[in-house]
Amino acid sequence: MDEQLVNDQLSQWDRDHFMHPSTHLAQHARGEAQGRVIRTGKGAHIEDRDGQRWLDGFAGLYCVNVGYGRTEIADAIAKQAHELAYYHAYVGHGTEASITLAQMVMQRAPDHMSKVYFGLSGSDANETNLKLIWYYNNIRGLPQKKKIISRWRGYHGSGLMTGSLTGLPLFHNKFDLPLDPILHTTAPYYFRRDDLGQSEAQFVAQCAADLEEMIAREGADTIAAFWAEPLLGTGGIVPPPKGYWEAIQPILQKHDILLVADEVVTGFGRLGTMFGSAHYALKPDFITIAKGLTSAYAPLSGSIVSDKVWKVLEQGTDENGPIGHGWTYSAHPIGAAAGVANLKLIDDLTLVENAGTIGAYLNAQMTDALGDHPNVGEVRGEGMLCAIEFVEDKDSRTFFDPARKMGAQVVAELATSHVIGRAMPGGDILGFAPPLSLTKDEADQIVAATVKAVKATF
Ligand code: PMP
Repeated sequence: MDEQLVNDQLSQWDRDHFMHPSTHLAQHARGEAQGRVIRTGKGAHIEDRDGQRWLDGFAGLYCVNVGYGRTEIADAIAKQAHELAYYHAYVGHGTEASITLAQMVMQRAPDHMSKVYFGLSGSDANETNLKLIWYYNNIRGLPQKKKIISRWRGYHGSGLMTGSLTGLPLFHNKFDLPLDPILHTTAPYYFRRDDLGQSEAQFVAQCAADLEEMIAREGADTIAAFWAEPLLGTGGIVPPPKGYWEAIQPILQKHDILLVADEVVTGFGRLGTMFGSAHYALKPDFITIAKGLTSAYAPLSGSIVSDKVWKVLEQGTDENGPIGHGWTYSAHPIGAAAGVANLKLIDDLTLVENAGTIGAYLNAQMTDALGDHPNVGEVRGEGMLCAIEFVEDKDSRTFFDPARKMGAQVVAELATSHVIGRAMPGGDILGFAPPLSLTKDEADQIVAATVKAVKATF
């Protein structure tokens, strides 16, 4: 069939039948807000059905870390599908791929971590962690120690409990989520501090004091865990202010509060270290992984538990029998095969190092090019993450009226250069999270396109 006719047909079916995630449903169904239909990808580029080629500055949803079109992973998936597409992991069963991947993950995880449970998405891995935390405190005889503290601007998924953990109101609105056991504390977002006169050190002290106050108000004996990304991702790509983690971790330790490091974005190299926990010297009790585990070649996630937690979980099953938690697709062999090939590729191509060096280059070039622009409040980033926050007035740090959607306008302008960035929720923030395999030349293209888009918008 003629390409145009196929495109028209797909477009019609898309509007008529496909309910998309995180989409304005009515606009999409009316044909006002259709996305690109992507057909192929190679390296940092994707190509749509109209034959247009795009430099994907967000690696899908910061997940295609090794880049598109890696035949090593495609071949591993095909081989696994031919040999054994599925067998479950219940009652101690496994496959070569799932056992090998568990070993590879734990070889890379911080030393004090013990085991990994495999799920399918970042959301379900966080859900698993939450259930394990409640189980853990029940086994310890602390049934009242169940509340969870997460942060405003944190993103931890969009399930029932994980949507509640997420600290972005867009993900709560009209859903009647069970917000009750979740408490949200101050976002470590220095640029958006209330008091502009505050130094970074004073702001960190305030974040710590806010946390202490919340714990004192609720009672430490009611609080089980603190949930955080090492660096705020979807909430604006915001590296923590200097000294933040050094101030927060001792408070958690003092009150016997577990730390869950949600490394769905930062795991497997994005910050230029294998894990964000190493980057910020975190000692988590749980680590959530997904995206970079398979570079999204197949859905797979993981909940990594520490030695300390594992010992209690073991005790729990000795006392109560098998743990009543599992998905049909836990440790799915095709996802696991993709994971094994992906982690090998990250090593072979030294992509963790590349994320550090090219990421630093991208951030430095972006800062040079736009740091002084009157509508650029801040250029910030870490590793292969970079964000630009736009303001109406720089000196008074006045934000634009959200109705003007300035961030989205910049993203639309950027598209005229065939570069993809993301308008982050909760502000006029342009985010980049390219594949870890990005080249210097591609970083230059992203910066040049951003400069052009900013000029055209403001
Ligand atoms: N945690 C973090 C830090 C994330 O960024 C995301 C997704 N962007 C999730 C959890 C949820 O992952 P998923 O969309 O795979 O459920």
